[in-house]
Amino acid sequence: MSLPPLVEPAAELTVDEIRRYSRHLIIPDVGVEGQKRLKNSRVLCVGAGGLGSPALLYLAAAGVGTLGIIDFDTVDASNLQRQIIHGVSDVGRPKAESAAASIREINPLVNVVIHNTALDRDNVLDIFAQYDLIVDGTDNFATRYMVNDAAVLLGKPYVWGSIYRFDGQASVFWAEHGPCYRCLYPEPPPPGMVPSCAEGGVLGVLCASIGAIQVTEAIKLLTGTGEPLVGSLMIYDALEMTYRKIKVRKDPNCVLCGGNPTLTALLDDYEDFCGAVSADAEAAVVDSTISVRELKEWQDAGKDIFLVDVREPAEYEIVRIPGSTLIPKGEILSGAALARLPQDKQIVLHCKSGVRSAEALAAVKAAGFRDAVHVQGGVLAWVKQIDPSLPSY
Ligand code: ZN
Repeated sequence: MSLPPLVEPAAELTVDEIRRYSRHLIIPDVGVEGQKRLKNSRVLCVGAGGLGSPALLYLAAAGVGTLGIIDFDTVDASNLQRQIIHGVSDVGRPKAESAAASIREINPLVNVVIHNTALDRDNVLDIFAQYDLIVDGTDNFATRYMVNDAAVLLGKPYVWGSIYRFDGQASVFWAEHGPCYRCLYPEPPPPGMVPSCAEGGVLGVLCASIGAIQVTEAIKLLTGTGEPLVGSLMIYDALEMTYRKIKVRKDPNCVLCGGNPTLTALLDDYEDFCGAVSADAEAAVVDSTISVRELKEWQDAGKDIFLVDVREPAEYEIVRIPGSTLIPKGEILSGAALARLPQDKQIVLHCKSGVRSAEALAAVKAAGFRDAVHVQGGVLAWVKQIDPSLPSY
């Protein structure tokens, strides 16, 4: 399905612009007309991280007239493995500002708008209303559903992308012409079941593969060129080096685009909807949480504890709390590893930051280990408060 261009052309291109964009101008499907449309375009990139980095760099180079960046985070050394819009000298700087500086270096003709804030239900509609198209580079479900809902409510298209380890996905959601994200994923996965990039890892260059698809789709939509991924899901497997395209249909019963949604209710409860831990885990940790200092005191006092690290083997390789035994969370939740837990010792669970260990704690308690506890803040808190000589990740 081809669609009409999203943006009207600007009045003219300057001599400088013609020189800069000449490789676009000589493509018959883009031409001067297409470049004038890009010049007039206003695109918002949600997140200046893994996907936002390549997306913003190429949107800027392509000559998108106005580029908005929304990000409240600051650049961390662990971002540089994939977030190529930032450099070493940007560590500690707000990502939106760092990204804006890189864009100005690549193309000073771009009008950059910085939104150095967190996207929330109070500002999302106002911010999105200022743009023709949204590029979604978020990495969490709460924001992802919010981006979708706001785009549907405002009748705007957005280009979605997602990355995990060696796998990526991309699509264009535009409720007027096809399905929305909720048609594809009506419910977020259960809390605690989906590892984030920070937990699961991501191959850095995967960001470029998926970010490039997102920019390609953005340019096609803005200029009305080709067939956009509306109603299609692109699935990329870097290990097999395959791209598969599957059809996604509009769900007539979609709570958002299928009928007349109660708009305020939908934009009301993202944190509840996509909470970090399940209700079981939340209940399990009450009166069963210790700090890393308490753990250290227990160890120093020779208390008879069994310290279980519920992270993955690759994480255990990076850094571990002395005396811990690795039993990944999955083996505890499936019940497979419960027999390895001693009945006569105090069970202490920990993970990276305290989310996975809370989930595991609920399962361990349900299996009868009533006095089991978990460690707040996990190994990261241990490194920070007990042994800063150990590496963080
Ligand atoms: Zn829908």
